[in-house]
Amino acid sequence: MRIEILTLFPEMCEAVLNESIVGRARRSNLVRVNARNIRDYTTDKHRRVDDAPFGGGFGMVMQCQPIADCFRALCAEWGERPRFVYLSPQGKTLTQARAKELAQLPSLALLCGHYEGVDERVLEALVDEEISIGDYVLTGGELPALVLCDCIIRLLPGVLAADAAFANESHYSGLLEYPQYTRPAIWEGREVPEVLLNGNHALQEKWRRAQMEERTKKKRPDLL
Ligand code: SAM
Repeated sequence: MRIEILTLFPEMCEAVLNESIVGRARRSNLVRVNARNIRDYTTDKHRRVDDAPFGGGFGMVMQCQPIADCFRALCAEWGERPRFVYLSPQGKTLTQARAKELAQLPSLALLCGHYEGVDERVLEALVDEEISIGDYVLTGGELPALVLCDCIIRLLPGVLAADAAFANESHYSGLLEYPQYTRPAIWEGREVPEVLLNGNHALQEKWRRAQMEERTKKKRPDLL
């Protein structure tokens, strides 16, 4: 899969994309993910990419031309049109189910807004879908784009140590994950549940499934 982040702050994205599991996946070519600077596509002689909103109001709005040219250059380079997603607090909230669907696509382009947002016309003309990471407002779309990348990339084949590693995790099957424990078996008087120490895998599986149901009921009854 390849993913391109269209942003005014590519260094911010690169810093995150080079670390940990995503960084390893990138270096092993399990995913091709890059950040591209929208400013490189502006035709303004002062390299401006934004202007004041028509009708007045606070802040600046990102202009159509640099975004459209950036996206079209990407399509021309790739020889295909990736699904174009705008990270926006007005979009549908990201879920594990949507991330699973997006992880099946061959390519994805992510548009990060900044300042007051993006001229509506370029969204109408080019964007396929808007995704939000929650009902709150951030200063830019970079962190949401990185959240989406992380969520998708860890689902790609070969990225996690075992391909099914995410199958029991919270939200994958609609339930929260069971509690996890590691050494030591007793910490400050708190013991690991006996069932996890006795080596009976069938019993452990049963216990974990029951815990998933119980804690979903307790912590997130809305999921049931
Ligand atoms: N004026 C816009 C509005 O009220 O809908 C908000 C603009 S916000 C300050 C700047 C940029 O941050 C947006 O264009 C978007 O790309 C990103 N952003 C902010 N909050 C977000 C969220 N919850 N989910 C996804 N993107 C978000």
